[in-house]
Amino acid sequence: MKIGEKVLNILYPRCCPVCHRILKDQNALVCPECAGKPRLVREPRCMKCGRPVKEEEEYCRECAAGKRKFTGGRSIYLYDELMKSSLLKYKYFGRREYGDFFGAVMSHYAGEEIRRWKPDVIFPIPLHKKKKRVRGFNQSEYLAGKVGKAWGIPVETEILLKVKKTGSQKKLDAACRRKNLEKAFFVTEPLNGLTILLIDDVFTTGSTIDAAAAVLRAAGAGKVYFLTLCTGIQ
Ligand SMILES: [Zn+2]
Ligand SMILES: [Zn+2]
Repeated sequence: MKIGEKVLNILYPRCCPVCHRILKDQNALVCPECAGKPRLVREPRCMKCGRPVKEEEEYCRECAAGKRKFTGGRSIYLYDELMKSSLLKYKYFGRREYGDFFGAVMSHYAGEEIRRWKPDVIFPIPLHKKKKRVRGFNQSEYLAGKVGKAWGIPVETEILLKVKKTGSQKKLDAACRRKNLEKAFFVTEPLNGLTILLIDDVFTTGSTIDAAAAVLRAAGAGKVYFLTLCTGIQ
């Protein structure tokens, strides 16, 4: 640990992303007793988006409809109450250090997929410029940085842009979400068949990832995969 980091840890002690208490070991990313508490997404998983499905199902409802624009993807944890409150603190209440744990978890558990997908470049799901300024950082960009560093994959933040504010999507149904996301993304240069890995914090219906993937494909991308920390429960 660098001297600067040590001083910062005294002024702003790092907290555990699970119990939110100050970490006894300031070099750790999580308390040892908390590390196993977030629930991993286990088999059976949707063969396309990796969400949990019932034993007899190959695909989730949305993927079975066959309209996905992304090639495939997966998420690490279930988006339950524990992860909701952890991500809330990470995104809005200054617990940026939680991103170090999240990024490490994503790099570790998605290792098999990343090796198989062989992405040429990572794009974090962008925030609109104004939103990023208000929030102070893009939570997905931070995670992308961690995964990119762990796997030696370049991270590009200036090619896939969010050009239209979409507001909160929470209260919209899938059709409205899709409509709301139309033209929300913009790609600044041709992608010439590149394999792209999109990184975001949460995959719910997948409408955001789908909208981004559609724009990337239109710009010439080859395969478009995604990796998110959490996934919604159907
Ligand atoms: Zn803890
Ligand atoms: Zn699916």
